[in-house]
Amino acid sequence: MAERKVYFFEEGHFGMKNLLGGKGANLAEMTAAGVPVPPGFTVTTEACMDYFRDGEVFSEELWASIQEALSRLEEKTGQRLGDRVDPLLVSVRSGAVASMPGMMDTILNLGLNDETVEALAAQTGDERFAYDCYRRLIQMFGEVVLGLDSWRFERLLEKLKHNHGCTEDQQLSGAAWQELVQQYKNSVAAAAGRPFPQDVLEQLRLAVEAVFRSWNNQRARIYRGINRISDLQGTAVTIQQMAFGNKGDDCGTGVVFTRNPSTGEPGLYGEFLVNAQGEDVVAGVRTPRPIAELQNIMPEVYDELETWCSKLEMRYGDMQDIEFTVEHNKLFLLQTRGGKRNAQAALRIAVDLVREGRISREEAVRRVELPHLEQLLHRGIDESAGAQPLASGLPASPGAAIGMAVFDADTAESWSREGRPVILIRPETTPDDIHGVLAAEGILTSRGGMTSHAAVVARGMGKPAICGCEALEVDVDARCMSVRGGIGTGVAASLSVGTGAGAGAGAGAGAGAAAASGKGTSTFIREGDWLTLDGSTGRVILGQMPLREPVASEELLKVLRWADEIRRLAVYANADTPEDARTARSLGAQGIGLCRTEHMFFAPERLVVMQQMIAAETELERENALAELLPMQQQDFEGIFEAMDGLPVTIRLLDPPLHEFLPGREELQRKLDATTEKAERLHLQRLLRRSEALRETNPMLGQRGCRLGIMHPEIYRMQAEAVCRAVAACAERGVDVRAEIMIPLVGAAAELGLLRAEVEETARRLLSAEQREARPIRIGTMIEVPRAALTAGQIAVHADFFSFGTNDLTQMTYGYSRDDAEGKFLARYVERKLLPSNPFQVLDTDGVGQLIQMAAENGRAVRPDLKTGICGEHGGDRESIFFCHAIGLDYVSCSPYRIPMARIAAAQAVLEADPLPGRKEAVPV
Ligand code: PEP
Ligand code: MG
Repeated sequence: MAERKVYFFEEGHFGMKNLLGGKGANLAEMTAAGVPVPPGFTVTTEACMDYFRDGEVFSEELWASIQEALSRLEEKTGQRLGDRVDPLLVSVRSGAVASMPGMMDTILNLGLNDETVEALAAQTGDERFAYDCYRRLIQMFGEVVLGLDSWRFERLLEKLKHNHGCTEDQQLSGAAWQELVQQYKNSVAAAAGRPFPQDVLEQLRLAVEAVFRSWNNQRARIYRGINRISDLQGTAVTIQQMAFGNKGDDCGTGVVFTRNPSTGEPGLYGEFLVNAQGEDVVAGVRTPRPIAELQNIMPEVYDELETWCSKLEMRYGDMQDIEFTVEHNKLFLLQTRGGKRNAQAALRIAVDLVREGRISREEAVRRVELPHLEQLLHRGIDESAGAQPLASGLPASPGAAIGMAVFDADTAESWSREGRPVILIRPETTPDDIHGVLAAEGILTSRGGMTSHAAVVARGMGKPAICGCEALEVDVDARCMSVRGGIGTGVAASLSVGTGAGAGAGAGAGAGAAAASGKGTSTFIREGDWLTLDGSTGRVILGQMPLREPVASEELLKVLRWADEIRRLAVYANADTPEDARTARSLGAQGIGLCRTEHMFFAPERLVVMQQMIAAETELERENALAELLPMQQQDFEGIFEAMDGLPVTIRLLDPPLHEFLPGREELQRKLDATTEKAERLHLQRLLRRSEALRETNPMLGQRGCRLGIMHPEIYRMQAEAVCRAVAACAERGVDVRAEIMIPLVGAAAELGLLRAEVEETARRLLSAEQREARPIRIGTMIEVPRAALTAGQIAVHADFFSFGTNDLTQMTYGYSRDDAEGKFLARYVERKLLPSNPFQVLDTDGVGQLIQMAAENGRAVRPDLKTGICGEHGGDRESIFFCHAIGLDYVSCSPYRIPMARIAAAQAVLEADPLPGRKEAVPV
């Protein structure tokens, strides 16, 4: 553990990120690179954790170190905190190791009091500016340190503007701000029971402590939960000389990305505000101007900014998100970090960086964020339906979303919990809205830019979002909004057209056409009205639009090919129909790891026959029904074999308990009561009797899987026969068939021994020795019950492969009913940290994983050529895939649309296990 708790920027570097937080480490790195950064120092994350460990006590030792650093900063700047002539003002900012945008607190202008504000006014000759800074400090201090609500201050400001006949903050005079400062101070004293501190050292100490505490505020904890960030890291605190963007029209502040975060296109992309302070841009209070306009207003500053952007991008080997401030035409960079980007942009940037020789292919694959890939595979609006947008805003986060309008986060959360999809509409979002953002299908705001809170958070979550949609008048209290006719104007419209190019020609044209059709009328949207958002083009559409499935981009295909060169695990699909198989293959499946044959019986015309088979009371009746089912199965198998020509297809024999194919007993009884038709009544009575006979207390532990096949050998025989006939028919047509038959839910080796013999007997009956030699059908089992895992060595004697059915294996290892646990208690368990995550989503490597590892090893010890893989839901989960790679399984099998993610994750597992130099973090190059 480091002894020192405080580091000056010039004493650190990027490699100290764990200690200095992302912001502190980057400021250190920027300082080292010669970037114009206002001087300052960072209090370490360890100091923050010490504070919590000591029961939220701020140690005197730490305070002494901070004061010592402050003296050095005063020496460096030639200013003194609290000085009555030339006061030093500082920002006190949070900075976690992992980026948590807007989740923790920041205080600006610290060091102002009734005396220093006068000094600042005299020094700058601008009383208006000085008192504006002071009122901002009192508000931030009141909110962050003293826990007061923002409305307390906002209300006073609104009243002041009203009284002075102003609509904009900039119109207020110095005297008006002075008046507001007095009101703020009174309000703080009344609400907090203590005055705003005039002692600047007290301000500093309390501010640092409050930033420490903000690590554990509600929104930060929720954000960490979602993003799986450890609670044990703490936040660093950066104390830095203020640079002012609000001293006049030769000042400004902005946020710039070194490449377009929506499309990945090279070139500066961002926003700025003239005469404003940093928080104004990110908070979305005023809608900013596109960065290109800075070139006209402050050409030299723009050129310098562009140069530093390019140097920083070069140094970090990645697209950067940079905050800057201009004080009287002098540029300061306040922060740089890897820029958040959407999936499309991430891929384009990674591929471009490889082409530019900045990073390797492996690094490009490593950087792919799987939730982003999901976004790429997201739907958009089906343009053939002729979308007529109500309004247009900034395309802040791509993908299409359909939901009912709601105007506050709590309603969003409660409606979504009731199963009603919602679109959360706000003037702008704040971090306190996070639960609503989480619950909503999409986000729509009337204010704020591409770097506003709503945009950043939605992009991070891969959720469609439209920001800065100025045509909306949102009335949160009345739960409605009016939409001025036509498309939003100004920055929002110009940016959305500008970025529409990356979202496809059709979409861009849609936005343009709608822009021309604005009629100047208003539309009213009330809570509960349906809306469709197109986060890729920024269009807001009334009603529910038809959606289209996504298309893989060139960049995605390229990165997937690179991933394929790296990965060792094969990726199979869980697919039950020829169509699913074709989709899976087009997405890169190297085989089918699980074909659940029961799904083939659910089509209405087949279900009737299936029910006849189940209800059969004589052998003959059953044989007849099975004979009718056989060609249906055979036809499906042939279709799948054809789609997967040359690749393995693993067909699982019937698994679920038979009652699942019958209507519920109550429904049967209702139907019986409602009919007088004799034959119908007989049929229903028979089904009812059968249903009664099949009734089990614990069906998931009852007569299902291989137990069913043993009790009803004719069912498995029919299925094996259908496979063999399909193999023969396809072979005749020249299809390269690699059929595998999988026996589910085996718990004892003898079960598999028996069923294997029966399948082999069917194969011998239906296929010639030559055919069997040319197209051997492999026979294996699922390992789904703990006993199978424990006796894997015995089971392997009869198995050509093991496929771990991690859904059942998780259910049975934990003893959780998979149909009930998620709805009943699992979410609470995860919330209360009784479990690290939902074990039905992320493999429990400590328990279930150990069974898998042991079974795979014991199985291979008996049969070195035993093929092993998993086919539960975990086959598409990144962490679970990492585990499968680590224990040497041969494949993972997942649903078709997760295949691209699985391919990337399997490659990332190799890269994680075998780190390349400089690969772990975006270490500057
Ligand atoms: C499993 O149990 O993991 C599995 C794939 O089978 P099913 O989900 O069909 O029970
Ligand atoms: Mg199962």
